[in-house]
Amino acid sequence: MDRGWLTPPIVLPQHDFLSQLESIGIAPDDIKDVVLSHVHCDHTGNINYLRHARFWIQKLEYEFAFSDQIGPAVFPSDYDFADIDWHIVDGDWELTKGIQGIFTRGHHPGHQSLVVTLPNDGVKILTADVGDLWENFENEVLPGESVDDPAAMTSIRRLKAIAQDTGGEMILLHDPDMVQRLRLSPASYT
Ligand SMILES: [Zn+2]
Repeated sequence: MDRGWLTPPIVLPQHDFLSQLESIGIAPDDIKDVVLSHVHCDHTGNINYLRHARFWIQKLEYEFAFSDQIGPAVFPSDYDFADIDWHIVDGDWELTKGIQGIFTRGHHPGHQSLVVTLPNDGVKILTADVGDLWENFENEVLPGESVDDPAAMTSIRRLKAIAQDTGGEMILLHDPDMVQRLRLSPASYT
């Protein structure tokens, strides 16, 4: 794929977490549940604003996060707060009807993804970092980082199968092409 048009990402003040929430009329205190896909630092940076919420994390990821095994891309100072109300899950689970956690380890020891069924927009599969780019799924290429390659490939295939079975759309977090066509705040999926 030609990515020759790419320029470095530009992050403006209106792109930060609090500004994005404000643009859709939501305050941090309105958020009651947070599902943590994994503890890489690009997924934990704003936990400090949400310490009142319930945090849902896979058992293996929780154990890893508080072990001495963490690498340089994990910042305990982002999440190691005594007042966090951790809710530890183990395997596939359901937060509520229409919000399913899918255990997708491989990229990280206890990585999880979400399958969200929306009334108007149907099934959205929030892959998190199972695959960084669309090519990871289309061509079954392992993510840039993996702690367990066979598990990472199983997770890629699992999400592809869910997409096929449900007609759902995969939402990738790190694909610079996909972000051009997703609805971004203040637009939303309903
Ligand atoms: Zn990651």
